[in-house]
Amino acid sequence: MALKLENHPCFNDASRHTFGRIHLPVAPKCNIQCNYCNRKFDCMNENRPGVSSKLLSPGQALHYLKAAVELSPNISVVGIAGPGDPFANPDETMETLRLVRKEYPEMLLCVATNGLNLLPYIDELAELEVSHVTITINAIDPAVGAEIYAWVRHEKKMHRDIEAAELLIGKQLEGLKELKARGITAKVNTIIIPGVNDHHVETVARTVASLGADILNCLPYYNTKETVFENIDEPTPAMVTEIQKTTSEYLPQMKHCARCRADAVGIIGEMNSDDMMEKLSEASR
Ligand code: SF4
Ligand code: SF4
Repeated sequence: MALKLENHPCFNDASRHTFGRIHLPVAPKCNIQCNYCNRKFDCMNENRPGVSSKLLSPGQALHYLKAAVELSPNISVVGIAGPGDPFANPDETMETLRLVRKEYPEMLLCVATNGLNLLPYIDELAELEVSHVTITINAIDPAVGAEIYAWVRHEKKMHRDIEAAELLIGKQLEGLKELKARGITAKVNTIIIPGVNDHHVETVARTVASLGADILNCLPYYNTKETVFENIDEPTPAMVTEIQKTTSEYLPQMKHCARCRADAVGIIGEMNSDDMMEKLSEASR
């Protein structure tokens, strides 16, 4: 199997105009509630809110992928990023990864998660040669995390406040360590939320760098209506630039994130033609 790691357009700036990615929207549920997320929209792990995605079963997803690869042969990465969390829907996520790996032995596989329920699946992710995993880590200090997460549901139990944040952060950091122990490339996304964690992103960067994270993606919080944070302003470009500069002392930065939707297809930042979207829509029926 000859996976070419440098062909991942999200992790390698030099590849992003040549190689495309596709997200397979097979994971509808989420196991945490971020105060910036309105579930009517896509997950902000990786996705631009505001447009909800279609949902596919693993079998439909493979069918859809085949159609997409025919229309857009530059696809080098298949990612699962929601629209909820991949490991809040582990059966669908893992089955999809197995199907894709079987059909496309050379495809790069990628997953983006909040990290809560990642640990039990890391061994199989490594076996399937999933090469890139993103964990969204917005806080290291549970007191900051308690401002960001309304609740966390783990093994059928609800957690709130500091206890919820402690649980989530502990799983995220352990997950990161285990990914690196298996040689999987790990990206950390941190959403910059002014007045909530903007002063704390440097601590996140320092901590995840010490655990072996490969790259950091500092994303501006996106104001979404009908959320706890709906009255918080988005960070200014100057704040984002400053935080990227400070945290670049610890980790390389991903700066070309286009906030892909859970059903994104093709070259990052490029719109797909109506014709292509229509054909893909047919393939997913
Ligand atoms: Fe929303 Fe994603 Fe947070 Fe889940 S992890 S609440 S889908 S932003
Ligand atoms: Fe992977 Fe995120 Fe890129 Fe999608 S946008 S392919 S999940 S790194």
